[in-house]
Amino acid sequence: MESSVVCGACGHVFTWHQLASTNTDGSPDLDTRPAEMQRSTMHAWIQRCPSCSFCACDVAKFDERFREVMTQPAYKSQLADSRYPNLTSTFICAAILAESIGERAGAGWNYLHAAWTLDDAEKGDLARVCRGKAADIFLAILTEGRPFVQQPGASEALVTDCLRRAGRGPEALKVIESVLNQDCKGVIRRILTFQRTLIERGNTSRHLIAETDETTTHDAANQTILDGHQRGWRKRILRFFGRNISVVCALVGL
Ligand SMILES: [Zn+2]
Repeated sequence: MESSVVCGACGHVFTWHQLASTNTDGSPDLDTRPAEMQRSTMHAWIQRCPSCSFCACDVAKFDERFREVMTQPAYKSQLADSRYPNLTSTFICAAILAESIGERAGAGWNYLHAAWTLDDAEKGDLARVCRGKAADIFLAILTEGRPFVQQPGASEALVTDCLRRAGRGPEALKVIESVLNQDCKGVIRRILTFQRTLIERGNTSRHLIAETDETTTHDAANQTILDGHQRGWRKRILRFFGRNISVVCALVGL
């Protein structure tokens, strides 16, 4: 479905292919990346103005503090870096902007989404770098005692996967032990225990939440973590876009 978008930074009007609807069937990855079909809709999660290259989930919403950041070398060089798919650079630039105004959870998610696009492009080294950046941001938030996913332990479970897949197993183990030493139950405990096993085996590959306990009901496990992820998304989107929440939530399938 095509829609017309007005860039909040420069006023340019462009056509954007909006996602009408999607569904998902199967277990998300340990880092909450959804199964197909939603898995392949990332192009609809983020926008880039073709005139001024403002990158955001909704480019109609512009914060004046972004203007200077968009002129800086880090932003411009990312857009010009041919090693990265365009979609990846869009997510990374959105992360740079979010971080510049202290929207760290949003920045972390954007870096993680950039990593997912790099997985698809089979650029493992660059994906590890993006996961590392996501992990650093998420860890900083957690250090301040402010989880970015509501479900207790889910933030730590997510950062653990970012660290493991970034090749930073020892740091992930510290996070895992800190949570397992607390009153941690259910799917979160299973995920963290599974992560610990993967790290001990030197495994840095993609794995599914459904693998955490093949003897339990996968749907229940999936739904628990997915609910947490979606609540995180909804909270983040509410903060970013306010009254346009219904449009954006429909867009990303919430
Ligand atoms: Zn623009």
